[in-house]
Amino acid sequence: MSGRFGGMLMNVPFLDLKMQTAACADEIRAAMDQVVSDCNFVLGRQVDDFERAFASYCECEHSIGVATGLDALKLIFRAMDIGPGDEVITTSHTFIATALAISAVGATPVLVEVDSDTYTLDPVAFEAAVTKRTKAVVPVHLYGQTADMKPILDFARKHGLKVIEDACQAHGARYNGRRAGSLGDAAAFSFYPGKNLGAFGDGGAVTTNDAALAERIRTLRNYGSAEKYYHDELGENSRLDTLQAAVLGVKLKHLDEGNAARRVAAAQYTERLAGVGDIKPPAVREGSEHVFHLYVIQTARRAELQKYLSAQGVDCLIHYPVPVHLQKAYVSNGWGHGDFPKTEQLADRILSLPIFPGIKEEQIEYVCGVIRSFYVKG
Ligand SMILES: *Cc1c(COP(=O)(O)O)cnc(C)c1O
Repeated sequence: MSGRFGGMLMNVPFLDLKMQTAACADEIRAAMDQVVSDCNFVLGRQVDDFERAFASYCECEHSIGVATGLDALKLIFRAMDIGPGDEVITTSHTFIATALAISAVGATPVLVEVDSDTYTLDPVAFEAAVTKRTKAVVPVHLYGQTADMKPILDFARKHGLKVIEDACQAHGARYNGRRAGSLGDAAAFSFYPGKNLGAFGDGGAVTTNDAALAERIRTLRNYGSAEKYYHDELGENSRLDTLQAAVLGVKLKHLDEGNAARRVAAAQYTERLAGVGDIKPPAVREGSEHVFHLYVIQTARRAELQKYLSAQGVDCLIHYPVPVHLQKAYVSNGWGHGDFPKTEQLADRILSLPIFPGIKEEQIEYVCGVIRSFYVKG
């Protein structure tokens, strides 16, 4: 053995879905077999079962399975009658789906900055962005940590604004003891395979404590129909597949265990990266239970470090390299460089390190060893 960290090259994937799936493959196969026997492929009983289980998991009253996380957001807006002429506030530092959902219903996305330590919506920036047209705010629980909901909710309640959680990266996270998905008027979840709770394809859900809103979304996702062939409004086809619900029902039982493993891995990273070069590990807000969908550090030498890690077998990604306001899809909105300096600085500095349930301490030690050697080398 020679070299800075034993001289052995170790491959550390960004995410290991195979291992995660193998851990409960037999249980999942049995659940899928049941769907094959039942042949109730659309809105079968597994969808009801999963909706009940997911609502209970999120500690809220209702859950409605839909086709994607994007649709979950869109259907919430539609059910709240948010559309053309309305403004919806969210962050520029998010996955583009948050903004696309606002645009898709004809409303106007109004972007604001995030807090650079927690990567979540800055409550002060939110208050400053409210106008007479503002109807709602969408705090994004980015990377697995809930936004600072108390000041957001307090201000929104005072001004009659709806609060919609984008919980697509935060299944199981808590804010002052309460689960993501139960904090605002409604919440959107994604079950894209790589999310903390992932299906075998696309899937999504809405959670809410508002029975009337839940009923309207249930109708909207199913062609605007509560009774077959009677259509009360111009609905869509956005149902969670029975097969995906069956898979998710099994995986939900393992979610807390997976989130706990992610938290352990994150703590191992944070301990080992303290004081290393200019690395800034992710901050966990007091009262927040982070589920580390992603473990995102900041460094001024991001490009060099990512290249160095890659050469040593460590896969890292950037979430996200281009903020919403600088995406080509939004050029016509007139945003430009310099509009959101904190967000733009983050986009240049963030790096997501490998994290997933089952990542080994040796792998984390190896990644941190490579990072230490990068800074020693200068
Ligand atoms: C994944 C994600 C979405 C969209 O979910 P899909 O299921 O891919 O449509 C929305 N917002 C955030 C923050 C996400 O990470």
